[in-house]
Amino acid sequence: MKLPVFIVAILLLASSPAEAVDTKLICAHKETLELRTSNVITRCKDYELSLGEGPLLYISLPATKLNPNLEARFLAAQAAARKEGVELRIVSGYRTVLKQRYLFSEAVKRYGSELEAAKWVAPAEVSKHPLGLAIDINYPSDPAGAGWLDLNGFKFGLCRVFENEWWHFEATIAPGAKCPRLIKDASYLINLNKTKLGKQSKK
Ligand SMILES: [Zn+2]
Repeated sequence: MKLPVFIVAILLLASSPAEAVDTKLICAHKETLELRTSNVITRCKDYELSLGEGPLLYISLPATKLNPNLEARFLAAQAAARKEGVELRIVSGYRTVLKQRYLFSEAVKRYGSELEAAKWVAPAEVSKHPLGLAIDINYPSDPAGAGWLDLNGFKFGLCRVFENEWWHFEATIAPGAKCPRLIKDASYLINLNKTKLGKQSKK
């Protein structure tokens, strides 16, 4: 039986609240850090930390610390790694915009140009560290530990981002989803940004 388009549209609209109940939300017990699957309607309990329901990519207010959902993802991953004898630690998480600008300007001095520098330190405008949405793990001495997170981070919604930075992780997916392909290096982000700016200025 064929349904008229407008009836299909109404049925789709009517079905969205049910889909919202089905949208998974992963919670971690504050003490044991065991994971539990809840949903976005009933949320997490008082004794749980929320891992957040989707990718943690942008925030509306200026950050002053590591994003709490990202921190919960890391703590849950850290506890799971420890059970397998792997130690994970955050070497650098939230950074102020000023700190990121300083790191970038130092990198420009060291590598000779902004483009070369951006392969190793993202400019403040594109770095996720000033948003509290990036963590550097086990740098510089323990790539093997970070390798555990590279393999298992997706379960907690944490992904390695750059081919040339084994230590840098972001919450680019919902917990349990598939991590996107690695970006060659951070300079690719400013190229993208320049393209976007170019498009905006033509309007
Ligand atoms: Zn980083």
